Amino acid sequence: MTFETPVTNGWTCFHCGETFTDREKARLHFGNDEASATACQIDIKAFREMEKMAFRCRSEGSDTDRAMHRMSAEHEVALRREEEKGYARGLRDARIEMARALASEVPFWRWGEGGRFV
Ligand SMILES: [Zn+2]
Repeated sequence: MTFETPVTNGWTCFHCGETFTDREKARLHFGNDEASATACQIDIKAFREMEKMAFRCRSEGSDTDRAMHRMSAEHEVALRREEEKGYARGLRDARIEMARALASEVPFWRWGEGGRFV
């Protein structure tokens, strides 16, 4: 059933006999398409089960969102730690090279493995 074509006498439900002249009220009673159950035919037990399922889906979704957010934060921390390790390693290597350069006769700007700085 569509509600796009105006009906002069409105829409009458053959289940409960109620007539709707207002399009939105008719849509509310009949649903959005022919597969929808009319409001007067909805089984309250089935409706409550659907409510429970929707609640479960929402809470499972939020559990998943929380887990993904936590994993993302942990990944960010691990990444930062690795960057800091790399930075510390770079500082250590620079200190070692500086110490070697100072200990050698060759000026440090000319010293380097494989003649890199020569
Ligand atoms: Zn009805």
